[in-house]
Amino acid sequence: MLRIGCHLSSAKGYLAMGQEAVKIGANTFQFFTRNPRGAKAKELNLTDIEEYLKYASEHGLAQILAHAPYTLNACAKDPALRQFTCDTMCDDLERLEHIPGAMYNFHPGSHVQQGAEMGIVYISELLNQINRHGYHTLILLETMSGKGTEMGRSFEELSSIIDQVEDSSRIGVCLDTCHVFDGGYDIVNSLDAVLEEFDHTIGLKRLKAIHLNDSKNGLGSHKDRHEKIGQGKIGLQTFVQIVTHPRLRQLPFYLETPNDLDGYQREIALLKEKAKHEEA
Ligand code: FE
Ligand code: FE
Ligand code: ZN
Repeated sequence: MLRIGCHLSSAKGYLAMGQEAVKIGANTFQFFTRNPRGAKAKELNLTDIEEYLKYASEHGLAQILAHAPYTLNACAKDPALRQFTCDTMCDDLERLEHIPGAMYNFHPGSHVQQGAEMGIVYISELLNQINRHGYHTLILLETMSGKGTEMGRSFEELSSIIDQVEDSSRIGVCLDTCHVFDGGYDIVNSLDAVLEEFDHTIGLKRLKAIHLNDSKNGLGSHKDRHEKIGQGKIGLQTFVQIVTHPRLRQLPFYLETPNDLDGYQREIALLKEKAKHEEA
């Protein structure tokens, strides 16, 4: 069965997100752990979490994905900013200990003027620091479009980061379709070759989640502008191939397309229908 959901607002808490997900036909969802710009997190509401967990098991919601605020920078030049990133991520992970099976996705960061080599060192150091706490949540590095000095555009870069983490058993990758396409990987014409490349550089066993986004811009444009499914340069057929691919179909998929809830509901229904049709 296709596991698919979308990005939801976490403003009203976990139970509200779970109910919203079910209402739009999703069986998983993604949310920001706090204001995406990195403000202080709300107080942890254990009653809400308890109610959510009960609701989730009754309604078959699983593998939810928490997304770190995108203003964090694990490879900032300023050590104080790196420390802030580490503290914020640890705080998020501390909270996620209450949600068994959740995963935590973050953007590797921007190396600015220091070069990718330094970026790799800083990001893996930060992951080593986080690992010392012994959190259980799987941490995912997101594939990025390579805008500016963004890290994580190439599979090699992600692989180098993971290689330098002492215990990488809790580290995985979230592949964003818009980002990899923008980053120059032609998932439209050669999905199998891209997956093969992912497999021999990073290893497909590291791939734990997929962000489903069409792209406003063409292959290798490094722009990172998401589009609705089927209305961008990637196109519906590729999304059908992705959600039904034998090497991918067991993964959870999250839409981050420019949509309101109705739009998400339509995209979820469309992809579920296509997946059912392909597999029949
Ligand atoms: Fe992201
Ligand atoms: Fe994404
Ligand atoms: Zn994006």
